[in-house]
Amino acid sequence: MTHKTSRISGFHKLGVPERIDQTLAFAGLEGGDLKSLFLDTGNLPADLVDQLIENAVGTMNIPVGVATNLLIDGKDYLVPMATEESSVVAAVCNAARQCYDAGGFITSMSGTRMIAQVQLVGIPDPGNARLTILEHTEEIRAICDDCDPVLVRLGGGFRDLEVRIIDAPSGPMVVTHLIVDTRDAMGANAVNTMAEKLAPHIETWTGGRVYLRILSNLADHRLARARCVWKLDAIGGAAVRDGMIKAYEFALMDPYRAATHNKGIMNGVTAVVMATGNDTRAIEAGAHAYAARKGWYSSLTQWEVTREGDLAGSLEMPMAVGLIGGATKLHPMARACLQIMDVQNAAQLSRVIAAVGLAQNFSALKALATDGIQKGHMSLHSQNIALMAGAEGEEIARVAQRLVELGVVRIDVAEAELQKLRAGH
Ligand code: NAD
Repeated sequence: MTHKTSRISGFHKLGVPERIDQTLAFAGLEGGDLKSLFLDTGNLPADLVDQLIENAVGTMNIPVGVATNLLIDGKDYLVPMATEESSVVAAVCNAARQCYDAGGFITSMSGTRMIAQVQLVGIPDPGNARLTILEHTEEIRAICDDCDPVLVRLGGGFRDLEVRIIDAPSGPMVVTHLIVDTRDAMGANAVNTMAEKLAPHIETWTGGRVYLRILSNLADHRLARARCVWKLDAIGGAAVRDGMIKAYEFALMDPYRAATHNKGIMNGVTAVVMATGNDTRAIEAGAHAYAARKGWYSSLTQWEVTREGDLAGSLEMPMAVGLIGGATKLHPMARACLQIMDVQNAAQLSRVIAAVGLAQNFSALKALATDGIQKGHMSLHSQNIALMAGAEGEEIARVAQRLVELGVVRIDVAEAELQKLRAGH
């Protein structure tokens, strides 16, 4: 048997169809109908697919659903969400419905400032170096703003300088933070360019050596905030409220629970970030780092009982999303989703996303504190299981319904039910 090798030189220079051929041949899958599956790039033009990433062979479609009932800062929104997970869109719609009559969500934003880090080492006198860098603030402002006249013209650019000393095992590091307002861009490329431009100057001023020059995804100068009060009678009474508070306190105190609690928030957040062509990993990294900012990993949301006895939820988290840059302007579906949301700037988009995250968390806590998550989840999940068992057309709904009736949503049960159905039982 000949050895298969993944060492393929010039793969990136091939056209997409040739790359598909080689990939399928490597996997021993040539000759079937898989090639046409790869060639169908859906709503992303094939030439764009090849431009967006390296070694492209196709696309991966994810359903886009629309969250309804969202009243945010007095304005009604329909919010597109890209997710493969059933019940995520429904959860947002349900939570938003239960606070719509009481006025919906109130949101705000701390700013649209990003941080770029410049790591300086080989410094015997870090205190001295730190102040030396700070003394050059105005020069640094000029160097940074010079990198991006478009951004400056739009009201963005360098805003502030922070210099930190980190005691690393091999010696002190002097870390400069460039704080830059990137307006409607996520800003990674914008601030990275500034950090790289500045690096040799910092070396000259301090005599040290610069290594890393890159943005921080812990974008804590770019916090999106959402809050909302759910009336007691809208959520089903004091027992539900108290159960939800207990569920929240569990996440507040326990990182094992907080990971799942925050994952639920990110179900909503990531889906909108994805639908608008933004960088999901950047938002996820920022969220989890922010959740651990106190020295332990905890809940991103806060849940309280108001003076009137209603349930108040709030969410604050880094939200570095843009309306420009990355795939936001290039992906036709992302552009369409942004048009549906009708947001005027990146801050407005961030605020809507925070409201969606809070809504998602409300639904998860409520389900957990009452029926348990599986009831709602499983009725939707049962359709996926029916599909996996091979159900087609009308069979899907019938098998799914049977699984819900039986209270057992499992593939083996679905297969048995499908067989019975086909046998006319
Ligand atoms: P970009 O560089 O494509 O666009 C930003 C530029 O657009 C600005 O610098 C400005 O010159 C111009 N611009 C035009 N109109 C603007 C407006 N209204 N507001 C602001 N700027 C405007 O994009 P970017 O946002 O700098 O970078 C985003 C990309 O960087 C994403 O694809 C992300 O995945 C990627 N990235 C992320 C990381 C990370 O998260 N760690 C690191 C590197 C790259």
